[in-house]
Amino acid sequence: MARRRRLAVGNWKMYGRLTSGLTLARELAEKAAQQQSLDFDLVVCPPATLIWPVAEALMGTHLLLGGQDCHTATHGAYTGDVSAAMLADLGCRYVILGHSERRIGHGETDELIAQKVTAAQLAGLTAILCIGETAEQRMAGKAADAVEKQLRASIPEKCKISQLVVAYEPVWAIGSGQQPAPDEIRTAHKLIRKTLGEVGEAVQVIYGGSVTPHNAGPILGEVEVDGVLVGSASINSDGFWAIAEKCR
Ligand code: PEP
Repeated sequence: MARRRRLAVGNWKMYGRLTSGLTLARELAEKAAQQQSLDFDLVVCPPATLIWPVAEALMGTHLLLGGQDCHTATHGAYTGDVSAAMLADLGCRYVILGHSERRIGHGETDELIAQKVTAAQLAGLTAILCIGETAEQRMAGKAADAVEKQLRASIPEKCKISQLVVAYEPVWAIGSGQQPAPDEIRTAHKLIRKTLGEVGEAVQVIYGGSVTPHNAGPILGEVEVDGVLVGSASINSDGFWAIAEKCR
């Protein structure tokens, strides 16, 4: 089987104002312009307020755009929400769904996330579905069970596998500077593929949790790792680029 295409995703979270967001996008666009082509995908996911200015800054480059969340409906009386169709309208190709900061901070359930995956795929977006165990589950030796259960419950029945990326993000590793060892990441990714069944080998499974330019190499050295989802380190263009280049 041919190697799955790799991808580096930058989750800017709730960081960036117009000036700083545009500066970051332009710096990344400049770096991309120095390449004939990229043999991996590079996706930036700014906060909703910056999607359009960043889209303009990235036009004509190899860089792709994503949202950080979407609603289950295409439109309606949902104050403060953004639909997948709206993201697609601005040029987004991806949307991060089920991030632990939304599961925990906004009470998002697996069931809701599965509905969001469907909405995203109907709008033509690729869903970057985040799953991962908590520190408590890990300490109790229940990490594998938790990951498997969360994955099964967050995938809708009629999921379009070609529009799905799974991001393994242990909750305890996000923003903490801590990480599983590369072989633990490999084991988790294998479990994710096994849980996905016969389509598992075709799905891109990426890792997220305190990825930096220093630790990205060994993680991406694992053949089961198809890329990275980067939070804090993605809001520095040199750092994010250094990580992304390890996807080659
Ligand atoms: C994330 O937000 O998905 C993430 C992995 O954050 P960080 O890289 O800061 O741990």
